[in-house]
Amino acid sequence: MKRALEQRLQSVEGFRNPRVDLEQYPTPAGLAAHVVHLAGLHDDLDRPVLDLGTGTGMLALGAALADAPRVVGLDVDSSALAVARENERRLPPATRVDWVRGDATRPPLAATDATVVMNPPFGAQRGNEHADRRFLQAASRLASVSYSVHNAGSREFVESFAADAGGEVTHAFRAEFELARQFDFHDADSKTLDAEVYRIVWV
Ligand code: SAH
Repeated sequence: MKRALEQRLQSVEGFRNPRVDLEQYPTPAGLAAHVVHLAGLHDDLDRPVLDLGTGTGMLALGAALADAPRVVGLDVDSSALAVARENERRLPPATRVDWVRGDATRPPLAATDATVVMNPPFGAQRGNEHADRRFLQAASRLASVSYSVHNAGSREFVESFAADAGGEVTHAFRAEFELARQFDFHDADSKTLDAEVYRIVWV
């Protein structure tokens, strides 16, 4: 099931004009399939699934292809959402995704029992340093469970953030994050980042 999901997610197209200030990097299909598969095993796809910073729609479409009954993809960038919509048409999953434009750090949604899946900006760009902290904050309010992708070395930060917000990290694993050459400042054709994925149960 995971392999079939990954194969279908391979046809998700990347950003057309990726914005460096918004850290628009597509989540690799293999990583998205892994996260969605794990969420399915934990029955976390039975709740409304909310993808914060959905970008190309990769994680939202993964959840929809895995038959989550309700899926919302939120992004601040309308041109990313246009790509996500095209990706949905290309696939297309049985569950229709609701694409919502808005700021994930001030989410225009009222949920407390969602399953959040997200690959937020890592906060690597100047002026965006705590981007993943603000996304975690949003997840803690909206979700009873979240899956989030962070850059390597985030464990202490994520665990202490979760503990302070009354949550608990139940799973943590490393993942390779293949970055295609997208921005002029990238010198190699592609490079591999080490990423970390966390499942957090929020109370
Ligand atoms: N899983 C996505 C990852 C996209 S990268 C994919 O595979 O495409 C991070 C995304 O977060 C980008 O699409 C960016 O536009 C979005 N983003 C950045 N800041 C945001 C904010 N404050 N609110 C909502 N989305 C934001």
